[in-house]
Amino acid sequence: MSFSSLVSDLTYRDRNGGNDDRRGPMSRQVSTMSRARSYASTAATSVSITGDISSQLHGGYSHPLARAWQAERQLTKSMLIYPLFITDNPDEETLIPSLPGQYRRGLNKIVPFLRPLIAKGLKSVILFGVPLHPDAKDALGTSADDPTGPVIASIRLLRKAFPSLFITADVCLCEYTSHGHCGILREDGSLNNALSVDRISDVAMAYAEAGAHCVAPSDMNDGRIRAIKLKLIEAGIAHKVVLMSYSAKFSGCLYGPFRDAAGSSPSFGDRRCYQLPPGGRGLARRAIVRDINEGADIIMVKPASQYLDIISDAKEIGKDLPVAAYQVSGEYAMICAAAKAGVFDLKTMAFEATEGILRAGASIVVSYFTPDFLDWLEN
Ligand SMILES: [Zn+2]
Repeated sequence: MSFSSLVSDLTYRDRNGGNDDRRGPMSRQVSTMSRARSYASTAATSVSITGDISSQLHGGYSHPLARAWQAERQLTKSMLIYPLFITDNPDEETLIPSLPGQYRRGLNKIVPFLRPLIAKGLKSVILFGVPLHPDAKDALGTSADDPTGPVIASIRLLRKAFPSLFITADVCLCEYTSHGHCGILREDGSLNNALSVDRISDVAMAYAEAGAHCVAPSDMNDGRIRAIKLKLIEAGIAHKVVLMSYSAKFSGCLYGPFRDAAGSSPSFGDRRCYQLPPGGRGLARRAIVRDINEGADIIMVKPASQYLDIISDAKEIGKDLPVAAYQVSGEYAMICAAAKAGVFDLKTMAFEATEGILRAGASIVVSYFTPDFLDWLEN
């Protein structure tokens, strides 16, 4: 039936008193006839039949597959990067209490842990070094690029054990400095940007030369993307190393469980003079523009769910770059805690949060849920 006949059908019904049966037997008879004539066409469209026919949406997502098609990006295993905490004690495997189900592992424990995950489709990991040896930390973060240290040793080990695994190395000094800040400090305790960039870019080079497919500086010093890119070019390896910048990394309380895991809390002060202030949307946009211009291949936003507008900005500014989002330890721990308290189902919420991050514009998600998703996405 055409739209015009639907409308004339309605007019007929209105003229005859619609479905109001309170006006006596004659009226009821007419009205019943009217209902018979118009039921098929109007009952389903009664909400806005005089409006535009495009008001009818339900049919478009009536089937599960049609619902999946509504998303611009659907979560796949290839989008996920799994964070690993690697310690300098080879046999360690310690549960991190504030990060449910996540462990700090030594070199001897990583390969057996990853093998079944890779069989299930794990594509990528990001490595964080966690030096536990009492002499491992100093003011310059010397052990960050120790060739026998946990990150470089695990890059070499994983490249050999799992040739298809994409290895990203987080690059920062805070796990290795005695003061716990993300660079080298001046005497007054502020970051010395020039020295920090020099050091950070050296560490990135050491990871790239050890075989990392991707280096990801998370320190937030100004100008470190340019410095790393230039050193990669100079060393002749810029063509085979992805440079992923933590461009919009906001300060805040969501990193607590990570700092427990990595032992990277600052011994004094905080990181508010180099990580972005939570309200700083314009600042984040400027940092994203800057890092693209300095040679970043991927832009990252961190945390994720509290900063969906920034992910959307990153996608708008960096239309031609992949955007990554780090669903940080606090986001993960909150979802686990709420699910444990019976607020919602863990799997449903993990999907909802991650799909929100994709909808905002990310196509890469660093997620502690990765091992779960490898199972969940199987079905
Ligand atoms: Zn740091």
